[in-house]
Amino acid sequence: MVILHSNGELDQWLAAAPGPVHFVPTMGGLHRGHQQLIRAACGPGARVLVSVFVNPTQFAAGEDFTTYPRHADGDGQKAGAAGADAIWFPAVADIYDDAKAGHAKAGPQLKPSLIRTLCGPCRPGHFEGVLMVMERLLERVRPALVAMGEKDWQQLTVLRHCLPAFYEGRCRLLPVPVVREEDGLPHSSRNSRLSPAQRRQAALLPQALGNAEAAVQGGERRATVLEQLVRAPLESAGLPVDYVQLVNPLTLQPCPHLDGVAMLGVAAHVGPARLLDHKFLLSRKPIIAIDGPAGTGKSTVTRLLAGRLGLLHLDTGAMYRAVAWLMLERQQPIRPDGTLQQLLDAMELRLVWGDHGQQVICINGVDVSDAIRLPRITATVPRVAALPQVRQVLTRQQRAFGQQGGLVSEGRDMGTAVFPQAELKVYLTATAAERARRRAADMTQRGQAPPPLATLEAQIAERDHLDRTRTEAPLRPAEDGVVVATDDISVEQVVDKLEELFRQRVSYEGWPGGHH
Ligand code: C5P
Repeated sequence: MVILHSNGELDQWLAAAPGPVHFVPTMGGLHRGHQQLIRAACGPGARVLVSVFVNPTQFAAGEDFTTYPRHADGDGQKAGAAGADAIWFPAVADIYDDAKAGHAKAGPQLKPSLIRTLCGPCRPGHFEGVLMVMERLLERVRPALVAMGEKDWQQLTVLRHCLPAFYEGRCRLLPVPVVREEDGLPHSSRNSRLSPAQRRQAALLPQALGNAEAAVQGGERRATVLEQLVRAPLESAGLPVDYVQLVNPLTLQPCPHLDGVAMLGVAAHVGPARLLDHKFLLSRKPIIAIDGPAGTGKSTVTRLLAGRLGLLHLDTGAMYRAVAWLMLERQQPIRPDGTLQQLLDAMELRLVWGDHGQQVICINGVDVSDAIRLPRITATVPRVAALPQVRQVLTRQQRAFGQQGGLVSEGRDMGTAVFPQAELKVYLTATAAERARRRAADMTQRGQAPPPLATLEAQIAERDHLDRTRTEAPLRPAEDGVVVATDDISVEQVVDKLEELFRQRVSYEGWPGGHH
């Protein structure tokens, strides 16, 4: 492993080989948590660079800048053992050379809402300093990927939303799960400053968070109560608490009531060290809502994402198709009337999931999983789905699945009407031409002969029109949803993107699974 000091040495190392650089920025005092970041950053064809820089601009006067643990020799050895190709120890002047000359460049703009909670109010100027140093480090290194720990969740969130290289997609930010010591305390460089007695006290942080989790399992939902369950044992042990706060993990706004997934963060002083910890609290399993018009690859994407994250794939289009199948079977006119309500009241729609997560759908005891894919059903279903009576019955059944959560649901109104509480709402789009091509490939795979592309495109356009203009739960993106265009990217890339969006809202500790 190469040891680099000046910018010049760094530039030489960067120029010495082609291919992407994966970067792990640290403040040194490397421990197993950092080594996990380095391992996560290793990838075929990429060189891994670790930086060690105790950044003065992120410490306020009176904080521990001068006493922050510095162990250059141990750092080199640990980085190498974890698979780093180089470790870089820049001097302050290497990073802040313009500051010396008296014309320091301002860092990127912070979103004020992200620093109103948690560490923001306790450490004025801290996140500005973090953003400033990260922008400068990334300018010098120009990495393809940066690995950072979920332990510092607020830092991760601030960087993701405020650093242009990340939000403009020039560099990928890879979040890495927290690594904890045996007693549950997250690894942190500052732990090395604790005496054995203080180290034992520090374990109270994860323990106290565990109290809140137990209370959630017992049905508690009030933030004030959950926060107090963490604060009380720390204060009884004489540890000064900076904050205990329940927040929305994406927006970092306070969450007065737990509904779904929230993050409970704590900062407390143990002897010379200010320690952070957090726990993701879940009042149910996560829900992901995926909407969009026909032919955007929704089904494939939903199935793969559900498999990766260990969630059930709920295909609500199949439910509307099954009702359309039944109405055609019974020669029920497709309009609202009294006999329709009778048919719906007597209908038994059952969903079961096979060993490979595939959804099997039975209506009145008949397995219609294949029959509902026939073109005559596809042509009829948008008119069936526009009937308020049908929507009411199916929405009720879908919401019942949502009580437990644990779903990736696909349809037309998942994020807007059925699961407005979903952790992640996605709206997939693609041009009509691309969707027609995909539909044709899909039909061929099912052994059906596709009509000419122009006909398919017209049929798709007509279905979209019906879905978008109906009065009841029309197809449209949710206000707080993310629109993902799928034209020029592979299915695998769409799934990666959605997994990444999910990880901005739910940590690996909160819901394990996926690529780590
Ligand atoms: O996704 P799929 O093509 O199977 O959906 C069939 C039809 O069911 C859609 O065109 C739409 O009219 C209807 N649908 C709906 N609401 C949902 C899912 C499907 O209206 N949540």
